[in-house]
Amino acid sequence: MVCKGICQRYKAKKPGMNGRYDAGQKRCSQCEIFINWEGKHCPCCGYVLRTRPKGTQTRQRLMVIQKIKRI
Ligand SMILES: [Zn+2]
Ligand SMILES: [Zn+2]
Repeated sequence: MVCKGICQRYKAKKPGMNGRYDAGQKRCSQCEIFINWEGKHCPCCGYVLRTRPKGTQTRQRLMVIQKIKRI
């Protein structure tokens, strides 16, 4: 379960108006990346991908902001 960098090939670009999950993108919490991938598991590390979260939108946004601040 380690990131091998394969996910970078499937890296999803930030969608315009719609959210990432609305655009069909999935998140691998192991690689910490959004990818365009049909499968349920990450093609890179094999971790189960996250699809639509329920009520965690605001929370995730906050986490992103906190990450940016840390950098
Ligand atoms: Zn990866
Ligand atoms: Zn992964």
